[in-house]
Amino acid sequence: MTELTSQLPAHFVFSQSSLQDYADCPRRFQLRYMDHLIYPAAESEPALENERHQLEGQHFHRLAQQYLLGIPTEKLARLANTPNLGRWWENFVNFSDLTGLRNLSGLYPEVTLSAPLGDSRLIAKYDLIAFTEDDKVIIYDWKTYRKRPRNEWLSARWQTRVYRALLVAAGSQINGGKPIVPERCEMVYWFANYPDDPARFPYSESQYNRDWDVLVKLTEEIRSASSHPQTDDRQMCAYCTYRSYCDRGIQAGNLDALEAEMEAESLFDVNFEQIGEIEF
Ligand code: SF4
Repeated sequence: MTELTSQLPAHFVFSQSSLQDYADCPRRFQLRYMDHLIYPAAESEPALENERHQLEGQHFHRLAQQYLLGIPTEKLARLANTPNLGRWWENFVNFSDLTGLRNLSGLYPEVTLSAPLGDSRLIAKYDLIAFTEDDKVIIYDWKTYRKRPRNEWLSARWQTRVYRALLVAAGSQINGGKPIVPERCEMVYWFANYPDDPARFPYSESQYNRDWDVLVKLTEEIRSASSHPQTDDRQMCAYCTYRSYCDRGIQAGNLDALEAEMEAESLFDVNFEQIGEIEF
């Protein structure tokens, strides 16, 4: 068995995914970020179908980025060459928010922001940050979920809180040094399978202050934690790569069996930390 070190690296940089892992299961955080344990169990069944869906999601994100960088639509459309990709692409280019976006000077696809956070550092990679002509700053995140999650659930996700807070804390880096006003910020999740029903989350100074305070306290707690208990929510384990290591079952959970609880799918969210280069 792998020898575990259980040390958080001194210069560990927190992200929404590591914070979400800690919130979902402190043991998973320990195994993944402190022990660097690689345990290649399938996260869900049917494995091949879900793997294909994840790859298509990654490919779609790359197409969206290329579109926003100004690559001709016709050229990109040819690369949306599976039924899912073709449908997502069609929905994407017809998304009303995108009209005119490509002409904005303040458009930042696949941008990374980071800022000090107490004794730590926080980083986020955004699908798109857009500075609009009416002086708003909008974070866009593309989701290829099969089902649309509830807004209440999205609102509580660390991604929603980290992305907005970090935009306010560090967005001046891409705003000519000018601070970002929370009330001018919004985060939009756009769902490739539900193109007419994006989830929009505005922001405020009080939300920002609260979020940043919680982030500082949480990262201090994580740094000083002396134990990392397993989650009591065994549903988390059914889709966790460490389940046999933790003695929480061998068989991967079946996503179809959990259709009523769509949020399970988000455990395999596409994020830029996982996306390699795709040739065009
Ligand atoms: S299998 Fe369960 S207890 Fe173990 S790390 Fe994963 S979520 Fe946590």
